[in-house]
Order: sequence, then C-alpha cells, then structure tokens
Amino acid sequence: MSMDDIFSQFGDIFKDLFGGGASFGGDFSDFGFGGFGGGFGGGRGKPQHHGGDLRLKVKLTLKECATGVTKKFKVRKKVTCTHCHGTGAEGGASSTQTCGTCHGTGYVIRSQRSVFGMMQTQAVCPDCQGEGTIIKNKCSFCGGTGVTTGDEVVEVKIPAGVANGMVVNVPGKGDAAIHNGVPGSIQVYVEVEQDKDFVRQDKDIIYNLLIDVPTAALGGNVEVPTLDGKVKVKIDPGTQPGKVLRLRGKGLPAIQGYGYGNGDEIINISVYVPETLSREEKEALEKMRQSDNFHPNQSVRSRIFNRFKQMFE
Ligand SMILES: [Zn+2]
Ligand SMILES: [Zn+2]
Repeated sequence: MSMDDIFSQFGDIFKDLFGGGASFGGDFSDFGFGGFGGGFGGGRGKPQHHGGDLRLKVKLTLKECATGVTKKFKVRKKVTCTHCHGTGAEGGASSTQTCGTCHGTGYVIRSQRSVFGMMQTQAVCPDCQGEGTIIKNKCSFCGGTGVTTGDEVVEVKIPAGVANGMVVNVPGKGDAAIHNGVPGSIQVYVEVEQDKDFVRQDKDIIYNLLIDVPTAALGGNVEVPTLDGKVKVKIDPGTQPGKVLRLRGKGLPAIQGYGYGNGDEIINISVYVPETLSREEKEALEKMRQSDNFHPNQSVRSRIFNRFKQMFE
C-alpha cells in the first residue's frame, strides 16, 4: 500500500449531500445503509449508544473496479478509551452504581397532557442516558465517556464490479460508541477515474481501434488492449470503418451477485487515413481512384447505412 492509498477523512459535504438519517435509493441502496450520526438505537431492552458513521471517498482506476481492491484509510475518529476499556469508570466496574432515577431500567415514564388527554410516554432516563448505571469515579482519560479521539488505519475491501457513485458500507468501523455501545459504520464513496483506453458502459467496456488503410483492405492481425493485458485480434480483408467486434467476457464482472457473468469488450473499428502524402503515395492513390473497385456500389452503401442507422435505434 502506498501513501496514495491512504485517504483522509471526508467531512461534512456528505452530510449535506445525503441529509442526516436518510436512507438512499438508486445505486446507493445496493450496499445497504443505516442512519447517520451518533445517538441511540431503538429495539427492545436498554437503549444502546451508537457511534457515528464516517464518510470517506476513494478514487479507483477502471482496472481496480474490474478486479476489486483493498484500500487503506487513515481515519481520525472516536476510539475506545484504552485506560478504562470503554467503561468510562476509573477502577473498572466496581466504581459504577445502579441509577436511582430509573432503578436500573434505563427508562422513565413521563405523563404529558395532549389533545387526547393525559399520555404516558416512555423516555430514556435523563440521569444515566439509558444505561441504568451511574459512574461514581469517572475515567480521567476520557472524562467518563469511554471514548477518545485517535487515528486508526482502516482496511476497506472494495468488491469487483463497482461503478462511479456507488457506496461501500463497512459496518463496525465508524466511531466507537459511548460505554462500549454499537460502533458506527464507514461509508466509502466510489469515484472512478477516466480511463485512457476504455469507455465503460455498465459491465461492458468500449475500445476504439484505429487501423491503417492497408490493414482495412488486406486484413491482418492487430494488438488490442484489454483490462488484463493485450490480445491479438484478426482483421478481415475489406473491413469497413464502424465494424464492431466483441471480446466475450473481457468486460467487468457482475457486482456481488447483482446480475451474472462478465461483461464484454466491444471494439469499434475506425480507419486511419494519412493526413499528409508523399508524391509517390499520391500517384498510387490517384491510380486507385481510377479503378471502379475503389468506389462503393449501391449494395455496399445500403449495408453500411443500415449499420450506421442501428446506432440510433
Ligand atoms: Zn476512559
Ligand atoms: Zn437512569
């Protein structure tokens, strides 16, 4: 792993972008989300502290998308206090006592006047924050919360097949929660770099192959790049520009079972025409111009037009 692989923490931009506590639709939901931010989680029993979620951003090459990759991030976050092991108490569990307000249940019952009459609602105990216990002797390192701020290197496995805009969710790697509660998640936002050779279309990649005029006319073998090295491709004699070849399975893999099999590499053939000519070359080409064989007849014209038309259907 190089330093380039270590990314700094992403700030509040994401909070603004996504909205607190929201869940996502579209591509984002592919990986599943919880709510953002710290606080309490619901469920039965005593309420539990939840650590906040962290958002990071990763830049990937197309090749990394094809193979999947493990990235390291140096993250500044809330970590469990090493002095009290997250309990928040100096001298371990012996310095905690049962909360007198809620008698250890973590909840209090409140009576409230409403338009429906008196309503009784259950609320988290304000004195122990739902824990049912009070710390007598607070840890001097963390002030009793059980968490401190620290740097941690987090490894995130990015699955093969990811695309621009997707988010990889890593549960348990976010902020540590107060008093050894449930840690938050890390959400890694994927940004894919523009590739110099390929245009991506879902699982397929598109390559534009530029062949020379003699190869188009005479045929031959040419080298074509793929995501895993070069391959030789046979060009038939009389190949027209705009002809499409398909290398099956040379595209990107399906992501974590969403769809089956690899995509293809689609090769679009273009023909390079020299931009300057020597006198001899000009003479040779002038001769070719005299030959009827160098002018397309009606059947060739309609065949090429039909293929061209398909691009817009
Ligand atoms: Zn502590
Ligand atoms: Zn209490």
